[in-house]
Amino acid sequence: MNIHEYQGKELLKGYGVAVLEGHVAWTPEEAEAAAAKLPGPIYVVKSQIHAGGRGAGRFEGAPEGKGGVRLAKSPAEAKEAAAAMLGHTLITKQTGPAGRKVRRVYVEAGCDIKRELYLSLLVDRATSRITIMASTEGGMEIEEVAEHHPEKILRVAIDPASGISGFHTRRLAFSLGLEGKQIGTFGKFVMAMYKAFTALDCETVEINPLVVTGAGDIVALDAKVSFDDNALFRHPELEKLRDEAEEDPKELEAAKHSLNYVALDGVIGCMVNGAGLAMATMDIIKLYGSSPANFLDVGGGATKERVTAAFKIILSDPNVEGILVNIFGGIMRCDVIAEGVVAAAREVSLGVPLVVRLEGTNVALGKEIMAKSGLPIIPADNLADAAAKVVQAVKEAA
Ligand code: ADP
Ligand code: MG
Repeated sequence: MNIHEYQGKELLKGYGVAVLEGHVAWTPEEAEAAAAKLPGPIYVVKSQIHAGGRGAGRFEGAPEGKGGVRLAKSPAEAKEAAAAMLGHTLITKQTGPAGRKVRRVYVEAGCDIKRELYLSLLVDRATSRITIMASTEGGMEIEEVAEHHPEKILRVAIDPASGISGFHTRRLAFSLGLEGKQIGTFGKFVMAMYKAFTALDCETVEINPLVVTGAGDIVALDAKVSFDDNALFRHPELEKLRDEAEEDPKELEAAKHSLNYVALDGVIGCMVNGAGLAMATMDIIKLYGSSPANFLDVGGGATKERVTAAFKIILSDPNVEGILVNIFGGIMRCDVIAEGVVAAAREVSLGVPLVVRLEGTNVALGKEIMAKSGLPIIPADNLADAAAKVVQAVKEAA
């Protein structure tokens, strides 16, 4: 689960991470009042969306150069900047061409930036450890730094048994070229980050940029915080920070029906039981020259209602040009699946080709239900046959 920058900063602050003063605002008037509470003379108005690259982004229909992070010299200017953001769609490198609508802004104290650094914590699956990444190249995307200057990124893995120590933070501080008092300040900063990361069961915390100010302080100027969904049950207070407007409506609907659904950007909608079979189905669609529109595991004990819900979610995706149902009926019976597919296809007018591959318990009955339905369902005998048929049918329909 992702949260907004201002929420991340508020949480991190609670663990002792240095951030600047700021206030969230939902209207231009609130933004003006928020700025008036800050010391000035510079105010920064920041669009709050669950995507980075805001500073270098642009608003739909507006000229380049006026991004999602703007400086203001007075509360009145902050109001103006907020009015230009709120209700408008911000397009950044990370939002994709569709962009995201800005519904709230964060009005923050202006910072006297001397250096922009990069710092992040993440769970590294390769080492099964929390890894701290630091770089002198703050402000730019770390993926870019990794590609062109991998030597400029230092990774320090933390042993979960012994935890974080001074030698870790000193190594990081030296690699960032910090000196004197800053080494200690930075050490405390990283320790606080680590504490927050473990206490909140985070997946990633990215501070880009981490700033050294003119006065020599170290401050988190940006904060991207995401939590491990599997640990959210331990943090009911974090669940309240969820912003459904920032999440894929198809994924939200799927979660309501306990379906494991992940939206992707291809054109073949997939309904499969079992995560392994779902992965194999996505692979074989690729092999036959197309791409999956989603990952979907309907689970072993899916009911007709759940199959219907799953089907509707797939069809609500405007990118879907064809559907591949691939079910192995072990615990699940093929006739139940067939009934679900037929019911859903009837309920939602099916405008795209549908290929169904069923195998396993009651397969003959399942096939009979589909054949007798009168619906244009294309039956398939095996996985390769199914993939070939759906790719072909989509081509013919186009
Ligand atoms: P994003 O990563 O989405 O572009 P950031 O929060 O990193 O958003 O802001 C982009 C840039 O704007 C920063 O690299 C920094 O140069 C500047 N900036 C952000 N917040 C402030 C602030 N409070 N004071 C001064 N400059 C800021
Ligand atoms: Mg940033």
